[in-house]
Amino acid sequence: MEQILTKTKYISGLQCSKLLWYHYNDPHKIPPQDGMTKYIFDQGHNIGVLAQGLFPNGIIVKNETDHTKASKLSFELLRERRPLFEAGFKYENIYARADILNPVNDDAWDIIEVKSSTKIDEISLHDISFQKHCFEKAGLKIRNCYVMFINKYYIKHGEIDLKELFTIKNVTSRIRITIKGIKKRIKKMLDIIKIPSPPEKEIGHHCRYPYKCLLQNKCMRFLPEKNIYSLCRIRKSVADSLVKSGIYTFKEIPDEILLTARQIIQINCEETGEPYIDKEDIRSFLSKLIFPQYFLDFETFMTSVPVFDETHPYQQIPFQFSLHVLESSNAKPLHYSFISDCLKDPRKDILLKLKKLLGDEGSIIAYNVGFEIGVLKRSSEVFPEYIDWFNKIRPRFIDLWEPFRNFDYYSPLQNGSASLKKVLPALTKKNYDNMAINNGEAACSEFMRVTFSNVSKKEKQKVLVDLEKYCSLDTMALIDILFALQKLVR
Ligand code: SF4
Repeated sequence: MEQILTKTKYISGLQCSKLLWYHYNDPHKIPPQDGMTKYIFDQGHNIGVLAQGLFPNGIIVKNETDHTKASKLSFELLRERRPLFEAGFKYENIYARADILNPVNDDAWDIIEVKSSTKIDEISLHDISFQKHCFEKAGLKIRNCYVMFINKYYIKHGEIDLKELFTIKNVTSRIRITIKGIKKRIKKMLDIIKIPSPPEKEIGHHCRYPYKCLLQNKCMRFLPEKNIYSLCRIRKSVADSLVKSGIYTFKEIPDEILLTARQIIQINCEETGEPYIDKEDIRSFLSKLIFPQYFLDFETFMTSVPVFDETHPYQQIPFQFSLHVLESSNAKPLHYSFISDCLKDPRKDILLKLKKLLGDEGSIIAYNVGFEIGVLKRSSEVFPEYIDWFNKIRPRFIDLWEPFRNFDYYSPLQNGSASLKKVLPALTKKNYDNMAINNGEAACSEFMRVTFSNVSKKEKQKVLVDLEKYCSLDTMALIDILFALQKLVR
């Protein structure tokens, strides 16, 4: 069967020859993308469609799975001399489609690549280089190449202004550089596809860049469970070069590598199997807490195209909060929660409710508190009647992450991480394992899915209930962790 190298596969091939081989020869071994990654790709597609609105005279080229047919159809449409969306051309064993092909002069075309990111990355340039090479070989005259990407400074006021939302940049001179040697690279990739077994490839930086490779579990299987990639704050490049020289475990780390205090704590805990506890520092942290104690957590979503007025692309918009309140040391925690259907901007409702609930005194406790403070700060800037209130409550915030980030407490069960999802089971044996939604990314992508796409009422309701459970567990986890810390130093 004729193997065709498409631009997506070309990008995979640039990342790793082994990944490319699997795409063609054993694609079932490549696990599916997670919900968040799929959501990001979907956003990219939606942005492409939105950008078409800037070319009102354009023609959408029908999506044909047969590359020869698709190419024939696109050639026919070239005669119209109108902007073409998703036109695809085949030359020998390569095939590429352009987001937008814009006619210029009498016989030439500009390639416009639409990106949902807020800057131009190197990989986009390789993507366009592949298109330009393929189109020119197929007989098209290409004048310039452009990237159209999201203007991060755009603020929505009313209808989306496409001219303001997108920034367009001429990258023709940069393409002249990235296109060099493309013929050789394509030939090499086409040869790799044909070999009977996957090529040997060491793990390294390319496993994470430009995309997190889905074959990581397979290729990194040879590493022991506790390996140097899990050493806290180790630079990935340092870990890569250690693995390259056959050093996989903490024990093998050479003396010349200067370790931080936290890394030494982690390594010692691995050896003893016991947690490290700095009681003095934990006591000092706990002494800052004042009753009533408010345990707060937000869930947020972000979109490339702002949904609400006075927001910019990729702004974190809170849609949910959970709040547990402890009035005194032996009181039962009270629970309050809010989740929006996002038919209107939820920020004002959130401010209104929290203003009532957070009272005038007592500690407001969150995990990685900068996030909660940031959400409230940006929300109150849009609803200035809440600015004074926000400034008043801001000093009451306490970060429960602090003793774990500082390694005042560290358990080998955390595997180098101070995240809430690692600290909770290490300290309390509780976990998120049986939750339908069990992490922040899933909360965001599930909320987006049921809010901004067509799903049944029943499904939406189920996800909202799951979200309530998840967010409520997050704040209950804060209480559990706090109690466990108090017990440790009692
Ligand atoms: S995990 Fe790394 S080595 Fe393995 S296929 Fe992916 S990029 Fe290549």
